Amino acid sequence: MVDNKIININKAKKNKHNNKQQVQKKKNSTGLLDQQNQALLLENNKFNTISSLVSDGVVIINNNYKITFFNKMAIHISGFMAKDVMGVKFDKKLKFVSKKNAKDDSKFIEMVKKAVITGEIKKIAKDIILIREDNLKAEVAGNIAPLKDSCGKIIGCIFIFRDITSEQEIDRMKTEFISLASHQLRTPLTTIRWFIEELYSGELGKLNSEQKDYLKQVLESNSRMIKLVNDLLDISRLETSRLRIAPKPTDLAELIKSVLSEYLPVAKANNCKFKFKTPRVGFTKINIDPILIKQVLINLISNAVKYSFNNDRSGNIITINLNKKRKDVVVTVKDNGIGIPEKFQSRIFQKFFRADNVHKLDTEGTGFGLYIAKLIIESSGGKIWFQSTERAGTTFYLTLPITGSKSRIEGKNLSNV
Ligand code: ADP
Repeated sequence: MVDNKIININKAKKNKHNNKQQVQKKKNSTGLLDQQNQALLLENNKFNTISSLVSDGVVIINNNYKITFFNKMAIHISGFMAKDVMGVKFDKKLKFVSKKNAKDDSKFIEMVKKAVITGEIKKIAKDIILIREDNLKAEVAGNIAPLKDSCGKIIGCIFIFRDITSEQEIDRMKTEFISLASHQLRTPLTTIRWFIEELYSGELGKLNSEQKDYLKQVLESNSRMIKLVNDLLDISRLETSRLRIAPKPTDLAELIKSVLSEYLPVAKANNCKFKFKTPRVGFTKINIDPILIKQVLINLISNAVKYSFNNDRSGNIITINLNKKRKDVVVTVKDNGIGIPEKFQSRIFQKFFRADNVHKLDTEGTGFGLYIAKLIIESSGGKIWFQSTERAGTTFYLTLPITGSKSRIEGKNLSNV
């Protein structure tokens, strides 16, 4: 009896001990959960605070393309209240449509799907606008990025965008102003050239050598001004898609040769030699606008000459290649000139930009050529890029689709020809 009592007491003690352990365990696990919840709450608060302060619209959608988050700025840009869009399929409310056709939202939907399926970050295309709740149009810029869980699985997608309507409007006004001013300047400049040429020819009276020399300098300055004004006009036409593109079957090898022979005297004066091998595979003609592409070739070839510096006789070699690569025709222009310093390479296609090493060479330039070249090549369906090492040389690459460029009948011709 006594023994049984002792056993029971021991059992009770054990149970009490086990209970204590279980309570402790429970306390520990609840503590852990609390900590995790706290951390989650903190992260959530942080995210909410940041997204309510940023000046970009932030929208999150889940795997079913339904909106699960809509920040203050998204409300401001779109005009929709969060309660109107939360839980709704994004394309039912947010109409990101083509600039040309306000009913066509397929491009944006495709971009979102691609981001969700492939996990790639996509830039919202330039020709996409947002139709606001009040039916007004907002020009937007931004990105679409996939949203992943801690295992890397894609669980949705996030759009971050800002309203650039007023920026674009200011840009349009600037372009319009430049276009107008250039037009007004071109007529008197051309008249001046005409008079100077008359004087220079000696038809209006014989000139002494000093007078001729002065006139020659005036003529050169006048030509530079005309080129500048024409560049400005072309830029405004290209930026506003008002440049005519008239593709026709063109022998690109012949086009390159014609530019090289035009630039041979300048090349010789700069101690440069051209090397161009016509591709052995008989190149069939390609459907491009020869005037526009010639302008790009002139820019690349004249830059290669201008930015070569070796005074050694055998020094400056400019190699031009023409090849076919998959669906493209590729032209390369390689020089062994001054090169482009690495810190400036990302800005080389910007308007007005000139790297600082060219100033030491005493070369003339406006920083328009490559900007125009890029706009022309991209409007022709191609790409342009370069590789460069300072003091070793630069290679420019341009591609054009074998299938040719799309034509744009409306608009004006290049003025710089
Ligand atoms: P520009 O030659 O009138 O300055 P571009 O737009 O043609 O204008 O070129 C912009 C800048 O790019 C040049 O000022 C120069 O700094 C750099 N650049 C272009 N081509 C070359 C080249 N082949 N070698 C070195 N630098 C170059």
